[in-house]
Amino acid sequence: MFGINTDIDYSLLEGMDFTCLEGCGFCCTFPAEVRECEPAFNAILQIDRNGLKKWDTDDPYFCNVHTMRQHKDRGACIFLREDRRCGIYSVRSLLCRIFPIKIFFGHRVQLYTSQVCRGFSKDRQSNGLHRTGEEIMEQLPVQMKEEMMLKARGMYSSLPGKLAGYIPPDVLQAKILDYIGTMDISNSIVSEKSRDDFTSQLSSEEFINLPTYLTEDMQWLVFRLTGGLLERIRLERTGEIETTGSVHYACLSLKPLSAGAVNALREYLKLIVQRDHFAGVVYLRALEQKNKVSLVDLATAYLNDIAASLLLRANMLAAFEGYDIIDTDMIRETIILSDGYLATEPSYGLIL
Ligand code: SF4
Ligand code: SF4
Repeated sequence: MFGINTDIDYSLLEGMDFTCLEGCGFCCTFPAEVRECEPAFNAILQIDRNGLKKWDTDDPYFCNVHTMRQHKDRGACIFLREDRRCGIYSVRSLLCRIFPIKIFFGHRVQLYTSQVCRGFSKDRQSNGLHRTGEEIMEQLPVQMKEEMMLKARGMYSSLPGKLAGYIPPDVLQAKILDYIGTMDISNSIVSEKSRDDFTSQLSSEEFINLPTYLTEDMQWLVFRLTGGLLERIRLERTGEIETTGSVHYACLSLKPLSAGAVNALREYLKLIVQRDHFAGVVYLRALEQKNKVSLVDLATAYLNDIAASLLLRANMLAAFEGYDIIDTDMIRETIILSDGYLATEPSYGLIL
């Protein structure tokens, strides 16, 4: 139990189950965070004094955060074995233990799932993920839990004083959920700006920032734009890469969406908005903005950017797969491709 009074929201884990897939290891291709206050911190350094990399930041909230060291610029964690199992399983970090569950410490504690993982199933009877979430919250070191909660509480209680036109997160989320019902979800929401954003993301010099994807047969694929060619690259554990196909980026035409695809996209957007991380991104943008745009306008603009980015990614997958239409399955694949990227948006609050 917490020593301080707080809510914990498990509702986004309801009706879901999870089994980690043998020989996957996809989550180990993203640098997992480790905090100095975790028991794993010293245990990992004892195994390999170069096993961690300190985060380069002046932000006091993140100055004690390190990440697992990766092979080269973007291979897997150096502790992932050839059989794609963890080589330091008994001492792995908290984040490695709880994935694919994420915990957001904001105005309340909220648990949700990272959709980049393929190990989920819907099971209304067993509701296994909710139980796992409760176990995780019980097992988190009390001191760490309280520290994160207190920091987040401090951040959120200062918000009304810092933001003109402040509205609480639950009100903001309810308004945006209503908006999704009326939102235009078609290729017409893909603006020049969203194309430019997508192009610059694909052209990232940093391999770590490129769209990365887990296929059904457990391949790790990365997309990268160089010299007008969009490449699909297979990523090995050790950071070696092999180009497996390419398309001319200028020829990437927007394809029609099936009715099922529109519904699947709408449902996913609803899921995103229900995560408190979404409100956290909006608050952070509001604090940083120079213009006086309202929170609701900022939130709807952010949601439209997300939808446009999802559509561009769906069109990219469709081009590689030779689809003439974006159907429900293509949107599901796009969610696997996109969710990790959305989870890394800087936000107001702490994520574990
Ligand atoms: S991505 Fe999911 S299924 Fe794959 S190793 Fe990680 S937790 Fe397991
Ligand atoms: S410590 Fe283990 S579980 Fe965590 S990223 Fe590395 S290989 Fe994966």
